[in-house]
Amino acid sequence: MSEALPWTPELAATDRDKVWHPYAPMPSVVEPFPVVSADGVRIRLADGRELLDGMASWWSAIHGYRHPALDQAVRDQLDSMAHVMFGGLTHAPGVRLAERLTELAPAGLEHVFFADSGSVSVEVAIKMCLQYQRSQGHTSRTRLMTVRGGYHGDTFGAMAVTDPAGSMHQLWADVLPEHVFADRPPTVLTEEYAAHLAQLAAQHADSLAAIIVEPVVQGAGGMHFYDPEVLKLLRGICDEHGLLLVFDEIATGFGRTGELFAADHAGVSPDIMTVGKALTGGYMTLAAVLCTTRVAHGISSGEAPVLMHGPTFMANPLACAVAYASTGLLLDGAWRTQVAGIEKLLTTHLEPARELPGVADVRVLGAIGVIEMRQPTDMRTATKAAMDQGVWIRPFGTLLYVMPPYVTPEEDVERIAAALVAAARASAPASER
Ligand SMILES: *Cc1c(COP(=O)(O)O)cnc(C)c1O
Repeated sequence: MSEALPWTPELAATDRDKVWHPYAPMPSVVEPFPVVSADGVRIRLADGRELLDGMASWWSAIHGYRHPALDQAVRDQLDSMAHVMFGGLTHAPGVRLAERLTELAPAGLEHVFFADSGSVSVEVAIKMCLQYQRSQGHTSRTRLMTVRGGYHGDTFGAMAVTDPAGSMHQLWADVLPEHVFADRPPTVLTEEYAAHLAQLAAQHADSLAAIIVEPVVQGAGGMHFYDPEVLKLLRGICDEHGLLLVFDEIATGFGRTGELFAADHAGVSPDIMTVGKALTGGYMTLAAVLCTTRVAHGISSGEAPVLMHGPTFMANPLACAVAYASTGLLLDGAWRTQVAGIEKLLTTHLEPARELPGVADVRVLGAIGVIEMRQPTDMRTATKAAMDQGVWIRPFGTLLYVMPPYVTPEEDVERIAAALVAAARASAPASER
């Protein structure tokens, strides 16, 4: 077993001078914490501190770090090949994974297109929608409808369906295509909201190709949970107007919300579904777009009878092998008990935070816990408060939230919840503390 590369002051300086981090300026102003290793549900920093991982590395490390079965899957695959192109060639890891995904996914999603990241899979999904409508002779159907508060990625097509107000994507308002935005879906579906959706879709139907939403849980757009009944309504609206329904399950997929897919809360099948994040158990980047036979055959009988997309690293065998192993770990259903257990603990231990000064809301769904503050938090203050309790979180805006690995033991979930509450206390406006 080889040793981890040591962290040095020189690396820290190079990181600061040369390396761009997510959503950060260059040179950076907030120094990131150097990590030397991660094991189980713990991240070890260069200074020796161990942090419980409240973030599952942005929704992805659902089975924890260095899982023996996932490590082994990567090693085994490495013994045959790390990668070959997918154009004109194919391989068992890709084919097996595609079959697995169609078995796990909501009914009707029979075909799989592999992409290399979540954002790219959203681009592919949008392209599928537009190309499908063209193939049906609907050349004017080039726009999408979505809801406010959504997040679908950082590439331009995905940015255009992401809420322009909450993200910095408003910077790009004049270069992005203009899509149709409905209001944010409510926690409990109302007749007014149903009428609003129906009216908006009817008004724009001639120019719409599809409706795209994150089902039930809106992630980076505000950690908002909404009524699964909305999904049934959207299904009906799409069918009425000949629109495709796209569910972006990149954050919600593979058990996070308490069902295998968030769509399962409503028993609704979309025409197209994107998955990513937890697909490889957090080992490497991989995403996929699933679609129905109607969509696939529609595109393939159109004027350009192929889907014009093909990432260089499409269906990377290492990623597919570890994704097959990661989804395999879900097959025995233990995740359901784990996620339900985390939901119960987070509810018990976060709920009291509702009474704290500055707290606007507390909500829990599946293995996702959120404390929403009235005012934007200072990320450094909140992060430090949690780190003082040995827990890693990454707040944004008014939101303090966690989505720990499913395998997090009970006492560690309690510590994570306590740390989130500590972060909320530290984030209360000075006047209210
Ligand atoms: C993270 C996320 C994406 C983007 O995925 P990347 O792999 O970061 O490109 C898209 N949609 C949703 C819902 C996400 O949570």
